Amino acid sequence: MTHKDLIIIGGGPIGIACGLEAKKRGIDALIIEKGAIVNSLFNYPMNMQFFSSSEKLEIDGIPFISKEAKPRRNEALEYYRRIVTSNDLDINLFEKVTSVTKENNNSFVIKTEKETYTANYVVVSTGFYDIPNTLNTKGEDLPKVAHYYKDPHFYAMQKLAVIGASNSAVDAALECYRKGADVTMIVRGPEIGPRVKYWVKPDIENRIKEGSINAYFNATVKEFKEHSIIINTPEGEKTIENDFVLALTGYKPNFSFLEKIGVKLSDDGKFYPQYNEDTMETNVENLYLAGVICGGMDTHLWFIENSRIHAKMILNTISKKQKN
Ligand SMILES: Cc1cc2nc3c(=O)[nH]c(=O)nc-3n(C[C@H](O)[C@H](O)[C@H](O)COP(=O)(O)OP(=O)(O)OC[C@H]3O[C@@H](n4cnc5c(N)ncnc54)[C@H](O)[C@@H]3O)c2cc1C
Repeated sequence: MTHKDLIIIGGGPIGIACGLEAKKRGIDALIIEKGAIVNSLFNYPMNMQFFSSSEKLEIDGIPFISKEAKPRRNEALEYYRRIVTSNDLDINLFEKVTSVTKENNNSFVIKTEKETYTANYVVVSTGFYDIPNTLNTKGEDLPKVAHYYKDPHFYAMQKLAVIGASNSAVDAALECYRKGADVTMIVRGPEIGPRVKYWVKPDIENRIKEGSINAYFNATVKEFKEHSIIINTPEGEKTIENDFVLALTGYKPNFSFLEKIGVKLSDDGKFYPQYNEDTMETNVENLYLAGVICGGMDTHLWFIENSRIHAKMILNTISKKQKN
């Protein structure tokens, strides 16, 4: 059984930032990542452009040079991968953590699909991109319904329904429309989401206004069928022809994983995890949360820009504890 001072679960930007801070302080840390380096970013849409400018995605002040002010997915993959390799961070890839338990001697036992480890401290930085918010609508399990969007080429000359009105849904609708898809947006609220990137919002609103992209507002899907979908609209039920559906209605952290470890979650339906805002330590002593996982169901609260500081907060605390 391998022992480490610190095990960091999740090798996203924030897990990597924690690994880097640990290394600087001489803390023996291992990052365990269930996929590739920055696996969530790897799974983002192929042409995705961040809403943050590159310097706001930097960790530890390491310059992030991008062609445009706001970098694209492939540039971010390059940046974070180089941080891992150039700093020789200890990271195990394609190894999923399945459980974390606390022993009587106060250390943690971390089980993965490959090995068992012990550690004095654990950081959970597992993000939210692995579990989509499903619609619980009849036919959602049809193969034509996807919760992740990758490449617009696939949808060319097809009747595509995009459900949602956030950044992901709007980006997908515009890209697919421009590659020749016949796009219909189905939006639960009365308008395009207020947090949509300010330089993209007029584009989608104008495409809807001119009729290039169809949109139903205050609408929900009643049923997905093989060649159509049934929508509830303010004007009544409508059936539209359909080949593919992108249900881009957000994602959520793995709450049952947190609960199993013993992290308390709020009972207001938001599932906010309990942690100390100065140290990021949870109600489980020596177990910390970092990154976007901290926001519960409010996944817009934390992003790379404002959660990269978690790394220093956590590692300063662990470092102090080690000296005492
Ligand atoms: C489309 C999109 C665009 C975004 N644009 C921006 C932006 O412009 N600016 C910004 O600041 N933020 C943006 N965000 C938010 C932010 O980029 C991401 O949420 C970011 O990836 C958060 O970093 P993280 O390290 O907290 O989590 P993640 O990057 O999600 O990393 C978590 C990692 O944990 C791994 N993992 C999960 N469970 C386990 C397990 N059991 N065992 C081992 N590993 C596990 C996952 O594979 C993943 O690699 C965007 C998010 C999305 C979805």
